[in-house]
Amino acid sequence: MKQPRSAQPQLKAFVRRIEVTLRKQYGVPKVAPARTLLDALVETILSQNTTDVNSSRAFAALRRRYPRWRDVLAAPTEEIAATIRSAGLANTKAPRIKAILARLQNERGKPSLKHLGDMSNAAAVDYLMSLPGVGPKTAACTLLFGMGRDVFPVDTHIHRLCKRLGIVSNFATAEKTQDSMATLVPKGRALSLHVNLIRHGRLVCKAQRRRCDGCVLSGMCDSAAVLHRTSS
Ligand code: SF4
Repeated sequence: MKQPRSAQPQLKAFVRRIEVTLRKQYGVPKVAPARTLLDALVETILSQNTTDVNSSRAFAALRRRYPRWRDVLAAPTEEIAATIRSAGLANTKAPRIKAILARLQNERGKPSLKHLGDMSNAAAVDYLMSLPGVGPKTAACTLLFGMGRDVFPVDTHIHRLCKRLGIVSNFATAEKTQDSMATLVPKGRALSLHVNLIRHGRLVCKAQRRRCDGCVLSGMCDSAAVLHRTSS
């Protein structure tokens, strides 16, 4: 019978094995860096609850219409919402983006997040989460993709896989999973594990249909063991 992997060193070793296995399967992810940290934050906000294709289209449209962030700040919210319509939830995302730009303008004299460059990861996450509508996942994505910081965001795919693999309890919230993973992800491997877990969640361990036969993680997965026990 499988022993629970509750001890922290055991869990860390387990997560390390998952990272290595997925890296062998999918390779080392290459991600085009965002032009600025603020670009990364706005791109992440646009990507909430939609596909990468739709959010990229919305971001390109936004930058085409307003080449500088101060142009977005000066534009009517309805016009911004119409411009980013392809990202969905435009009536929520447009005022959120504008409120963030206004806060930065008031606080820093210009819409910029350059000052985060001098902060520790923890301080930068706290600062980003103090901005309107920015939660832990958006803050971590901004630092990972905008600055190459070694912080690990948990999205819906990663949250699902962490539960199925037995890294966190089935009752864990996404925020709790992100807290747990912050202490478990091997140093320097946040990008690799983040991108490859999402890839695995989209291709193999899907929300509705998991393909445990042929999954490279099946030998170490709690859910695969349960399925095997119940079907034999
Ligand atoms: S073995 Fe099944 S449940 Fe476990 S990660 Fe693979 S597809 Fe998902």
